[in-house]
Amino acid sequence: MAVLEKIVIANRGEIALRILRACHTMGIKTVAVHSTVDRNLKHVAMADESVCIGPAPSTESYLNVPAIIAATEVTDAVAIHPGYGFLAENADFAERVEQSGFIFIGPRPETIRLMGDKVSAIKAMREAGVPCVPGSDGPLPEDPHECIKIARDVGYPVIIKASAGGGGRGMRVVNTEAHLSNALQLTRQEADTSFGDATVYLEKFLENPRHIEIQVIADSHGNAIHLGERDCSTQRRHQKVIEEAPAPGITEEQRNEIGTACVNACKRIAYRGAGTFEFLFDGGHFYFIEMNTRIQVEHPVTERITGVDLVREQIMVAAGDRLSRKQEDIEIRGHAIECRINAEDPETFMPSPGLVEGFHAPGGPGIRTETHIYDGYRVPPNYDSMIGKIISHGENRDVAIARMRVALDEMVLNGIKTNVPLHKWLLWDRGFLRGGFNIHYLEKRLAERKK
Ligand code: ADP
Repeated sequence: MAVLEKIVIANRGEIALRILRACHTMGIKTVAVHSTVDRNLKHVAMADESVCIGPAPSTESYLNVPAIIAATEVTDAVAIHPGYGFLAENADFAERVEQSGFIFIGPRPETIRLMGDKVSAIKAMREAGVPCVPGSDGPLPEDPHECIKIARDVGYPVIIKASAGGGGRGMRVVNTEAHLSNALQLTRQEADTSFGDATVYLEKFLENPRHIEIQVIADSHGNAIHLGERDCSTQRRHQKVIEEAPAPGITEEQRNEIGTACVNACKRIAYRGAGTFEFLFDGGHFYFIEMNTRIQVEHPVTERITGVDLVREQIMVAAGDRLSRKQEDIEIRGHAIECRINAEDPETFMPSPGLVEGFHAPGGPGIRTETHIYDGYRVPPNYDSMIGKIISHGENRDVAIARMRVALDEMVLNGIKTNVPLHKWLLWDRGFLRGGFNIHYLEKRLAERKK
């Protein structure tokens, strides 16, 4: 096994702790880089070294590229793990890391760039044989008449998307031809102001899809495998709330077929590291929407059902090692569910930062808690409201759900408001118990609850 002696963890919160644990079990030293308000984070205390890289606003700390590179230099670290969010999918950052002589724990910068632009990503995936949503096959032309023709061929409703868009922004659904030209103009303008790129494309709007994604991991020797799928259809405002694996109702044949298509795509674009192919699943078919070129929040459900430590694997392939498993070694065992715990009001969803005045993590068979919070920890208002994740595992979905209910009842988390009551309610919801619902299900149930 190749060795990386010291790694900089360019992130915060639960994922920084997750990366630190992986490093320490591998005998790798760690450097925590943190903002001024994050001095009391658990992983900062546990890291071999820590460097304060700036004030609370992430633009001046966790997105501060020169400060992160300088911290890597002064601590004699050899690699940087970006986690998720912040700089994880920033191709320019990955390039700067490599140009400075360090290892970026993730794909090559050109791959991040290719998959970060939606038009080029879809083109690459089509060519690689990954099923995509029927659409404009590239950017929409300037001529409105040509656009009308394209939309007619695709069939209404359609969705216009900014090629450079992300985070659920730069998208507009169009139901009839009468609204097309206006919507096109607005989306182009928005794309130009928000992302500095007015390129838009169009695809069929799928009305009631499920969100199902495939986890892959690849090394730099041409090996790639998939680790099955996750169902992330429990969403509110395009934000995932609960994730599970495997996806209810997906057959082994469907899994193998879509998984193989993703693996072939990885080989074709010489993908390196962990990645996720996101699909909308509708009428029994998968439609690629985008690829995330990083570790994801929901990676533990896949770890639980496959036994693969994804962060360890990321570090190994970044060091130049081969994947530890072959496709035939991957076996799916049981069912896993993840509840994201957010510091927010469970009714209004307003963020609820503040002092944690009592915390006891749940435990027992099949329960894994991933969180950086502890008694007396103050959740700062500056960052994402997710403060942890509970993952349950069992021989089947019912057991995983039962264990999750007990875990949430057992957990004590006082001082701040959290979405735990929302999870408790959902875990007894009939539709949730049936499984296999579409991405609008949670919002529909929330609207009904209000009446
Ligand atoms: P972003 O990069 O901004 O997250 P995505 O392309 O991943 O954008 O789409 C975000 C969400 O928008 C999807 O999870 C889905 O809910 C919805 N969406 C995107 N494309 C379509 C489509 N063709 N049909 C229906 N819903 C869509």
